[in-house]
Amino acid sequence: MSDTAAAGDCIFCRIVAGDLPADILDRSDHAVAFRDLNPQAPVHVLVIPRRHVENAATVEHDDGAVIADMVVLARRVAQDQGIAERGYRLVFNVGEDATNTVPHLHLHLLGGRSMTWPPG
Ligand code: 5GP
Ligand code: ZN
Repeated sequence: MSDTAAAGDCIFCRIVAGDLPADILDRSDHAVAFRDLNPQAPVHVLVIPRRHVENAATVEHDDGAVIADMVVLARRVAQDQGIAERGYRLVFNVGEDATNTVPHLHLHLLGGRSMTWPPG
């Protein structure tokens, strides 16, 4: 899933490298968690792999450890942010119909309010 050719001007790779400021909440071996710039819920955090990955559609079985690390980090942030008990939503957007805008894999962690289903 690695795509180092695309990583050079990727904004999320720049956040991982510390070249672009972000409100970083936590880190793990394979992932970094920071607040979304345009929050859609009281808690809206992006959990991204340190290594450049295009999106969830490019993930392969070999990437299992990285994906598990992202989900475990999301759980820890949810606990730290006080939303674990009431619940939260984890979202991967893929492609245009899902409004995916940043081409570096990111897991949205949304919580702190009750949500509707289906999503808009
Ligand atoms: P997508 O629509 O691709 O699933 O989500 C991209 C998310 O990244 C959006 O929620 C957007 O607000 C957020 N975002 C875009 N650029 C930046 C940035 O430079 N910093 C941070 N913290 N969030 C960003
Ligand atoms: Zn990247």
